[in-house]
Amino acid sequence: MLKKGTKIYSIIKNKCPKCNEGHFFEDNNILHLKNILKMHKYCPNCGFKYEIEPGFYYGAMYVSYGLTVGGAITTFVILWLLRLDLLSIFIGIFIMLIAFMPLTLRLSRLLYGNIFIHYDSEYKNEEGIKLANKE
Ligand SMILES: [Zn+2]
Repeated sequence: MLKKGTKIYSIIKNKCPKCNEGHFFEDNNILHLKNILKMHKYCPNCGFKYEIEPGFYYGAMYVSYGLTVGGAITTFVILWLLRLDLLSIFIGIFIMLIAFMPLTLRLSRLLYGNIFIHYDSEYKNEEGIKLANKE
């Protein structure tokens, strides 16, 4: 299932959507909250420019919104089936949203990037590789 060249691989392994080799985010550990959204400007492996146009990743807000609403509804249904009262369900959803925030932030950018950037094993941008290694 996790084969190189698939979008799932890029999303789960934090890899460049173009080459599936270089890291997308600088820090691979999702628990380092200070670096949670620090991305490379260019892929260190293929030199692909991640920010295709200025403000490209603002669009990830819509993906984030979808993930958040989906998670909230899922949590609501689970807690409702456990026969909790509404206040407990509300608190449960709040805790779930805070706990999953780092994952939501990263997943939304990776998903958004993978919607618009397609895998190409032949792609090489020498200028981008030089710039990435200067970072
Ligand atoms: Zn790459």
